[in-house]
Amino acid sequence: MLRQKAFVKKTKSGKVLKVVKEHYLRDDIWCSAEACKECGHTETVLSATPSINKLFPLPHYIIPDTNIFMNQIDVMEKPQITNVIVLQTVLEEVKHLSLPIYKRVRDMISNKEKHFYVFSNEHHRETFIEKLKDESPNDRNDRAIRVATKWYANHIKDLKPQVSVVMMTDDAANRSKGTADGLQAVSVKWYIEALDNTELLDMISDSRELDDGQQLIYSEHLTPAHLSNGIKTGKFHQGKLGISSHNYLEGSVFTKIDGIEGTILIVGRENLNRAVDGDIIAVELLPKSEWRTTPTGVVVDEEEEKEEEESLKAEQKAASEHKEDVTMTDATKTATTTSALLDTPQPCGKVVGIIRRNWRQYCGFIDRKSVHTPAGSSAPINVLFYAMDSKIPKIKIRTRQAHSLLGQRIIVSIDSWPKTSKFPIGHFIRSLGEAGDKSTETEVLLLEHDVPFHEFSKQVLSFLPVEGENWVVQPEHFNGREDFRDLPVCSIDPPGCTDIDDALHVVALPNGNYQVGVHIADVTHFVKPGNVMDAEAASRGTTVYLVDKRIDMLPGLLGTNLCSLRSNVERLAFSCIWELNQDAEIVKVRFTKSVIASKASLTYEEAQNRIDDERMQDDITQGIRTLNTLAKKLKQKRLDMGALTLASPEVRFSLERDTQDPVDVEMKELKETNALVEEFMLLANISVARKIFEKFPDSAMLRCHPTPPASSFEKLEKAVARMGITIDHSTSKTLSESLDNAVLPEEPYFNKLLRIMTTRCMMQAVYFCSGAKIEQEFRHYGLATDIYTHFTSPIRRYSDVMVHRQLHAAIDSDISYGNELTDKESMNELCNVLNHRNRMAQQAARSSVELFTHLFFKNKVQEEEGYVIRILKNAFIVLVPKYGIEGIVYASAKAHKTTAAVDATATTAVATTTPAAGQPILVYNPETDSLQSTEPLAEGESPKIQIQLFQKVMVQISIDDDLKGGGEGGMRQKLKMDLLKPWVEGISVHGICNKDDPEAHAVTSSLHAADKSNSLKRETEAPATPKRADKRSKA
Ligand SMILES: [Zn+2]
Repeated sequence: MLRQKAFVKKTKSGKVLKVVKEHYLRDDIWCSAEACKECGHTETVLSATPSINKLFPLPHYIIPDTNIFMNQIDVMEKPQITNVIVLQTVLEEVKHLSLPIYKRVRDMISNKEKHFYVFSNEHHRETFIEKLKDESPNDRNDRAIRVATKWYANHIKDLKPQVSVVMMTDDAANRSKGTADGLQAVSVKWYIEALDNTELLDMISDSRELDDGQQLIYSEHLTPAHLSNGIKTGKFHQGKLGISSHNYLEGSVFTKIDGIEGTILIVGRENLNRAVDGDIIAVELLPKSEWRTTPTGVVVDEEEEKEEEESLKAEQKAASEHKEDVTMTDATKTATTTSALLDTPQPCGKVVGIIRRNWRQYCGFIDRKSVHTPAGSSAPINVLFYAMDSKIPKIKIRTRQAHSLLGQRIIVSIDSWPKTSKFPIGHFIRSLGEAGDKSTETEVLLLEHDVPFHEFSKQVLSFLPVEGENWVVQPEHFNGREDFRDLPVCSIDPPGCTDIDDALHVVALPNGNYQVGVHIADVTHFVKPGNVMDAEAASRGTTVYLVDKRIDMLPGLLGTNLCSLRSNVERLAFSCIWELNQDAEIVKVRFTKSVIASKASLTYEEAQNRIDDERMQDDITQGIRTLNTLAKKLKQKRLDMGALTLASPEVRFSLERDTQDPVDVEMKELKETNALVEEFMLLANISVARKIFEKFPDSAMLRCHPTPPASSFEKLEKAVARMGITIDHSTSKTLSESLDNAVLPEEPYFNKLLRIMTTRCMMQAVYFCSGAKIEQEFRHYGLATDIYTHFTSPIRRYSDVMVHRQLHAAIDSDISYGNELTDKESMNELCNVLNHRNRMAQQAARSSVELFTHLFFKNKVQEEEGYVIRILKNAFIVLVPKYGIEGIVYASAKAHKTTAAVDATATTAVATTTPAAGQPILVYNPETDSLQSTEPLAEGESPKIQIQLFQKVMVQISIDDDLKGGGEGGMRQKLKMDLLKPWVEGISVHGICNKDDPEAHAVTSSLHAADKSNSLKRETEAPATPKRADKRSKA
């Protein structure tokens, strides 16, 4: 049967078209019930014995409406929910409403164990319905769901074994219409309650029960129409909210104000008005009188966290009268910190509406102090959830498992944030395991950084060569390739490297020049554009390196075997071949696909030893020496051009073989040979970038590093000026020279420290599509080159895969390629994805280091030398070079733990009056960008205590690992740094040694010895020494 369905559609250009679609109604759409003999199906999805729920007499299939999928997808995904009929009406609506949820529904449909069957009710002769006059599309669809349910009920009523259908909807009106029609209808809550499964019950998203407030805390969000109008007229400003990682009550949007790009600060709970980090928001500027004249950078510390919990408790008891105080605290908080003044007030704003939410699933934990029922109780209670991501506000959830979830890492998602609720309201999704456990915490950090870490699917693996590990280079592979098997190719990598994507060779030419080759694994021979494996790699974007494991971008067979350029096996490569003269200048360059057979896979150390060992005179060794000489010349040229030598405090852990627990930690050491490889990789990347840009001027995948804005150097400049050092950042060359000259003879670490801090003033390097920028913006600031890309690591970076494809197209006019290489828009989009994945991968790696640092410091208390690298308004950040770790030291008085033994021999007397906890001891002075003591000063006198950038301090490092929650660390397991020197009354602590751990004790005491000589020497230099502190306590 053929029907015509006509509707009008608006085109992109605004034209209205009448579209007539032919709509076939069919008789051959089967029910897919296993026991059905009537339908013509051969394979069935719905089981003959579906699950049972005590609400219903018979086992049954579930027919959910659209909102069940939209609001309760977490529940639907649980293994307990099976045998579901997904109506076409519902699936189409879900697709229209949310692509991510649609994808999750599709995943369930393709999961055989779920028994989710898509019933094409819109094409079924007996279940298709026309929209009635005066019927809304929603009502029509609800009716379609009821009609389809009814059809099923009739169709399967005589099956043996007996089954029935249940319509699941949270819409009471729809349910009663259904029951009036003789259908079985149920809400998700009733259904789940009857299953007696507390975990599932916790997952039901039901905002009403949690929203216990009646009084408004927040102002109403404006309607979308109102917002878009306001944005058009310039009354509101649109942007993505970024919350400060030090203070979740402070955020900012980067946007245009009167046509000029700038940042609007949003301070305090009221002004943030329920916006969450990453949301696209509309902001209205506050009157100029309310703009901030203080610098940002307040740290919300534990005291405030406590205050939050207090308010929750009160909120739970009596909802109404307390709210005033809660909002008041924000106001007073802002007021008390407003002390120092900036020259120009910073624009401040208030969120008037949310354009798009960026809510996701959050890992975190339940705050012990919000659990007020006796242990063992399973009554549903409202508790507070802390996300690991400190930018996320606490989330209120309702749970029956509060007690068993304490001490666990759990996942929670936000359902809503009513204007009457101080906190957003969410629901429990699942538990990840014990907090502090290495594997649990690793999963947390992968989830939190959006790293896809699932196993590669069968479908992905089906695109691997059928020969598997037995794949070898065949004669036909030589088509279009050069045979480089005889060249003295070798690879140099970190020890234990199994994914070798680059190798090198050099041969002296008769004319006195050198032929140098960089050979890169020919990954695109195996990864063809557009197939599932390619799509998976594109979505992963990069391999992620954690301390103890690697999350691969490509299946292991490729990454660590077929594409790994191991020694003594033939491998396919993409080669970049230069002729370089004695001065390492490029005479010629060409690119070719090739077959190589590496002669040696060396570590940096092995390569270095070969260079140094004069007895070794073989081809490979001599080649490495030549390459080393050329690399030094290349490097000098780059430095002359203004390339920067930056630094990061990278560390390496030694892990115990079995447990993979960290047993030692040291700074990564760089060998000359690291630089050797690096130089040729840079050269290859630059040469390839030129080539693909020439071929694809509008769509080449390139990488740039924008010039940092002058403002980002301000604080650093000021700080080093104090030491008589100037930083000229007008070009990377001048900056590079300033860094080279910035040496303090008495402080050998200073130069490295300065480079670390300079690195942090830099912008992020990013991928971009050449058509999206003007050529002047292509520049890579750090490398001082006018064009750059990534070609050398296609095993672990998807950008390089694209670049390989573009380079291949550029050198071989015979190969065909699709618009994936030429389409500017899709290339741009891909760059955005890769930039995101890259950032996340870096952060995940950092978090992994942090996790291992915590494991390393567990049960240890160590005293170390550190440097102040950042001054915040009420705290400062200390970097401890030995471990590459950073920690916050608060400038307010803290409640000292009683365990701190008082050192009787200390030069400092214990003050008789201890400052009250939370009271600011050091106050920020924006003029000197320092924290200083508050005693009244005479003209020209400097404060007794001053904490400034670069200052050397002594800190005591320990782990605040109150994994049960409720302690200062709030179960975030953070590194705790306490100030030892200089002595600041109310902030500093007396050093202690951990007597339970003889090893730590030994380390600590030997450090003591070393430090003493240091601190003696320092006494004359440091502005705040124990001597001064001593003087103060006497005064
Ligand atoms: Zn049937």
